[in-house]
Amino acid sequence: MSDCIFCKIVEGSLPSTKVYEDDRVVAFHDIQPAAPIHILIIPKKHFASLNEAGESDWEVIGQIHKAAQEIAKKLDVADSGYRVVTNCGSNAGQVVHHLHYHLLAGAKLAPLGV
Ligand code: 5GP
Ligand code: ZN
Repeated sequence: MSDCIFCKIVEGSLPSTKVYEDDRVVAFHDIQPAAPIHILIIPKKHFASLNEAGESDWEVIGQIHKAAQEIAKKLDVADSGYRVVTNCGSNAGQVVHHLHYHLLAGAKLAPLGV
């Protein structure tokens, strides 16, 4: 998707601070962190959100969770705790329409809710 900022990060035409990369997943620091550690984990393949995931996408979604575990260990927050969350659609406040998981850590996080 030529107008997608996360596709541009995957291609390397938009800079990012990467913390993880494998054949199908990339992770980088959020430009506007909402916690001391705020990483975005995305599939290299473009699809808008969890709603658009097809049969062939569950494997990469599993790979994203594996990446989250590795990143948490690498950034030394596995023991203190972290949150992995994806916003899907307008009520969740999704702004970038390329599937991404937020990994938040480094402080006591606010409870989930409205
Ligand atoms: P959403 O609200 O869609 O779940 O989250 C989108 C996230 O992408 C936000 O936390 C926002 O700060 C982050 N973001 C938006 N543009 C960029 C960018 O160009 N680079 C990086 N690293 N993060 C971005
Ligand atoms: Zn994209």
